[in-house]
Formats: sequence, structure tokens, C-alpha cells
Amino acid sequence: MSKNCCSENEQKNSQNCPINQQKGKPVKIITLESLLKSEALLKVNYQENYFFCEAQNCPVVYFNQERQILTISEVKIPIFEKDMREEVPVCYCFNWTRNRIYQEIKETNKSTAEYFILEQVKAKNCACEINNPRGTCCLNNVRKIVKNYQENLNLIQNRIILSKSKLDMLLFLCYFDEL
Ligand SMILES: [Zn+2]
Repeated sequence: MSKNCCSENEQKNSQNCPINQQKGKPVKIITLESLLKSEALLKVNYQENYFFCEAQNCPVVYFNQERQILTISEVKIPIFEKDMREEVPVCYCFNWTRNRIYQEIKETNKSTAEYFILEQVKAKNCACEINNPRGTCCLNNVRKIVKNYQENLNLIQNRIILSKSKLDMLLFLCYFDEL
């Protein structure tokens, strides 16, 4: 077999985003059907496999092996991976937004999001395939966000404790000064 005979096929099976060349994640047509705006849905080729580009700085949300792209503006909802606003959902099925997760951690020092979602998954109430633009479970993203917020809050709290002890030290010195 010549080296060239497969190259076209290889290109066809390529799963890299046509814009940023990053590897895409396979996504089912049902996800596109539920989340694309109606004009964009008309462009979908049902014979093709589609992929999700999760790169934050790439406008492509979905692409196929023919290098067709569907971008952020063609999707009905904001994309967690590409939209850093706090009102964007991390869990699309139960609307755990960045802000909701953050507020809970700020108020209670912990997050019930993962437990809540796992319970709903057990009860078969989640539908990531049609709610989440990546078409798969949100739990990895939820865990990442929770860890990130907890670490940041710990940092802030440590800083407050540190500055409090500095303040104590200053007051202490002032006290001796007065004596
Ligand atoms: Zn991309």
C-alpha cells in the first residue's frame, strides 16, 4: 500500500478543531438539536460526526470532519468552557451557576453541588445530552470549580488572619509605647 492511500481518510477522521487545531470531544446530534438556534440547526449534516471544541479562546463550539464549524453565536445558551461570566451554569441540568456554587461556599465553607447532582443522577433526573453543550456529565467541571473557589477562599481567609495578627502586633506595640 502506498503511503498516500490513507491520507484522505485520516484527514476525514481528524477530530481537531479547524480554527485552533485542538482535539475535539465527540458529541451526539441530539445535543446539537436541542442547543443550536434554528438557523444553525438547518446547517447540520446528519451523516456527519460532530465534535465539541472546549478551548476557552476559540469561537467554535461544534465542528464536523468536513471542517464545518458552528460558533458561539449559533448556540442558544452560554458555553461554560468559553464564557467566564458568573451567571453561566456549570451544571446545566440543575442550574448550578458559578455564582450559586461560589455563594454557597462563601456562606457555608462547603459545596453541596456534587452531592446534589449525584443524587439526581441516581434518580435519573439529569439529561446532560440535551442540556449541557458538551453533551456529557458536568461533574468534572463542578469539582474543578468547587476546588478552585475553596482554594481561593482559603487564600483570602488566610490573608485576613495574617493581617489581623499584624494588627494585633501593632496594637501590642502601641500599648508598650504608652507605658
Ligand atoms: Zn476550537
